[in-house]
Amino acid sequence: MSPTGKPTAGHVGDHASDPLVAELASRCRGQVTAQASLSGLTTLRVGGPARVLVTAESDDDLVAVGRAAATHGVPHAIVGRGSNLLVSDDGWPGIAVHLGRGFRGLEIDGGRVHAGAAEPLPTLAVKVADAGLTGFAWACAVPGTLGGAVRMNAGAHGSEMGDHLVTVEIVRLASGARETWPVEALGLTYRHSELPADAVVVGASLEFEAGDTATVREEIASIRRWRREHQPLNEPNCGSVFTNPPGDSAGRLIDTAGGKAMAVGGAKVSDRHANFIVTRPGATADDVATLIRRIQQRVAATAGVDLVAEVVHLGRFEPSDDASW
Ligand SMILES: Cc1cc2nc3c(=O)[nH]c(=O)nc-3n(C[C@H](O)[C@H](O)[C@H](O)COP(=O)(O)OP(=O)(O)OC[C@H]3O[C@@H](n4cnc5c(N)ncnc54)[C@H](O)[C@@H]3O)c2cc1C
Repeated sequence: MSPTGKPTAGHVGDHASDPLVAELASRCRGQVTAQASLSGLTTLRVGGPARVLVTAESDDDLVAVGRAAATHGVPHAIVGRGSNLLVSDDGWPGIAVHLGRGFRGLEIDGGRVHAGAAEPLPTLAVKVADAGLTGFAWACAVPGTLGGAVRMNAGAHGSEMGDHLVTVEIVRLASGARETWPVEALGLTYRHSELPADAVVVGASLEFEAGDTATVREEIASIRRWRREHQPLNEPNCGSVFTNPPGDSAGRLIDTAGGKAMAVGGAKVSDRHANFIVTRPGATADDVATLIRRIQQRVAATAGVDLVAEVVHLGRFEPSDDASW
């Protein structure tokens, strides 16, 4: 705080009462916010606050986060665009890290694209197309950041991040070191990577074939049209809630089980796509988590398939004590 009691530029909240926040505010160039609401940082728009949110602008900020987490014995969590995140109503008891503009930017050299991890995937898809490169149109409809897409091995329409990645740059929160990992080291499988929990993806190099910009632009337009028709894009959601079981589709299984009629509080299964949960104003993270469990119970009971949540749960969720559906 300034002597006038107003928050100093870039640092918001009551630092004095929380030594963790005070330490981060004194060491980080990026914004440090105490008790920061995370719901607005997610596309589901539910969930509580983080004890402290750091919008990191440089490697030094990430080093400060790692040190503070270790010194104060608190957990850290990385929040990208929050398009695959369900944050607990209790919030996050430690440091939430979000990459700021310092981690954006793009360089294109022939077929090789190097981008900062905070770049939004849809923007990247368009820039790659405009550079006369093909193969990344699918990413136009995945509303995450490059960093989140690497962590999740995001994919759609038959392609995934692993098809294009060459190397990934990470900063280890535990040591503060910047490392470059080849794609083979990431352990990428369907919507999953083996990146260590303390690895913040800060950039990546991707490779594409030469193509025709107009053709790729048309492909992008057609994917966007398809998404608008088949997905509830005008309601808060987190994309596919469950991964597809081998050889089947989670949406088909939920639909067949009568799941489209299911709702809990302000969370309901989308009429448009059964593998989407949409939230209404007043919905809680607990509504979403309970609905997820009830869908799993119903599909297990009717089809004998255990659906696995794709959406990442952040914070504390009560185990299910309610088997009624
Ligand atoms: C309308 C809609 C459509 C979607 N369609 C698709 C789709 O077609 N295919 C698909 O795969 N997904 C889809 N998604 C889900 C989501 O967009 C992807 O999983 C995306 O890759 C998540 O990126 P994010 O930046 O939002 O990550 P977040 O949701 O913020 O985080 C997801 C995970 O990644 C971690 N993470 C985030 N950033 C970093 C980083 N820089 N370094 C290390 N870890 C990080 C987080 O800690 C968390 O574990 C959709 C979501 C929506 C809302």
